[in-house]
Parts: sequence; C-alpha cells; structure tokens
Amino acid sequence: MIGLYGVSKSFTEGSSTHTVIRDLDLTIREGEIVILFGKSGSGKSTLLNLISGIDLPDAGRVLIRERDITTLTENERTLIRRDNIGFIFQSFNLIPTLTVKENLQLPLELKGMKDSSERIVSILNEVGLPDRASTYPDKLSGGEQQRIAIARALVHDPGIILADEPTGNLDYDTGLVIVDLLDRVVKQKGKTMIMVTHSKDVIGLADRILSLREGKITELKTDSAIG
Ligand code: ADP
Ligand code: MG
Repeated sequence: MIGLYGVSKSFTEGSSTHTVIRDLDLTIREGEIVILFGKSGSGKSTLLNLISGIDLPDAGRVLIRERDITTLTENERTLIRRDNIGFIFQSFNLIPTLTVKENLQLPLELKGMKDSSERIVSILNEVGLPDRASTYPDKLSGGEQQRIAIARALVHDPGIILADEPTGNLDYDTGLVIVDLLDRVVKQKGKTMIMVTHSKDVIGLADRILSLREGKITELKTDSAIG
C-alpha cells in the first residue's frame, strides 16, 4: 500500500547540504499501524511529507497504492493525497475563522462530496463531540480540538492516516483519550496509520515500531521499545 524504495532527501542551506533521508527502503501494508520514533530533527516530518507527496525525494521512488507519485505532476499528487490521506498534526491546525462544521466540510468539498451534513454528524458522533458543529476552534480545549482534527482527517474516508506527534501538545490524560480514540476510529476501522510520537503510551496500538536515525529506518521489536 505504501512503498519507499531507495529514497533520499537532502536540504541545502547556504553552502552546506544536510542529508536527512538516506537511501531508505520501507513498505507498509494495508491496515498496519506503524509507530515512528526518532530524535527531534531526525527527519520524521520530512518522511511523512515524502509519503504524502507534499515533498519530493532527490532519489528513489514513493508508491501509494502501486502508483509511483514521484513521476506525477503536483496536481496529480494533490489528487492522490486528497483521495487517500488524512493528516493529524501536533498543533491541530484547525482553521480558526471557520466553525467545526466548516472545518470538516473542507476535505469533503475538495473531494466534490456536496451532501456532507450526514457525514459530518456521523464523524462528530464518532469522536464524541456531537454538539460542537457550530463552535469555533478557540472555544474548544486542546483535547477537543485534536478530536475535531481527527474527525477532519477521517471525514472524507481516506485509507491512510499520517499523524505527526498527535499527543505532543496535550497533557498525559488527554493524550490517552486521543490514543484510545485513534484505536477506535483508525485501527479498528482497518485503516493504515503512520504515527510519529515520543510517547510510549501508543505502543499498544502498534503493529510495527520503527526508529529513524541518521536517515535510516530500524525496525524495533515491541518488547525492546517498551523498556
Ligand atoms: P523531525 O520531524 O524528526 O523533528 P524534520 O523532518 O522536521 O525532523 O527535519 C529534519 C531536518 O531537516 C532538520 O535538520 C530540519 O532543519 C531539516 N529540514 C526540514 N525541512 C526543511 C526545509 N524545508 N528546508 C531546510 N531544512 C529542512
Ligand atoms: Mg517533526
């Protein structure tokens, strides 16, 4: 479902070039929940950007559902992303000038799904916030904003969820609520997820635990990662 083959990515600043991803191979099967650990600056967000086609590698191939997205135009990559991927961010990234309902309408409108009300009611129920449709994001707690952000990532029914430190801005207990929600609405629905995190509390969700270090992926055993 997701394949990276010989992928490299460097950034140049001034006269110095910094290689962030180094000849990396990774395949992820449909329905797998993959946890990605790695120090700050190790390239975790860069890797998610390469998988989503927001960023292009300097070398190598990135396959999403058998399609090599590195050979596509930017518009074509946007369509692949729109149809297959939902994002969850550390800082929620809801649009402050739009209500919850309007935030949730955006991915549906992009996909041309006009009759969206039923879908929005249903996803708000799933994330446990059925009565917040007309609320603005700044009236919600951090945990509630993240629940809406999860609803936004899922409302257009993508097969792949990319979550970049989704509990990083939340207190411990709220983080556990979010992990529990991801278990219900992502894992148990059979979706594929790559979650970047520093939290050990998500290990229970994981089918695989990966570590990114010096541009390479190491597959960790669940046992060793807990300790
Ligand atoms: P992580 O998410 O693991 O903290 P990032 O993927 O954000 O790491 O960044 C990895 C490295 O790549 C960092 O050194 C960062 O400064 C650099 N980097 C990321 N994006 C860019 C960019 N657009 N331009 C220049 N350097 C970048
Ligand atoms: Mg990051």
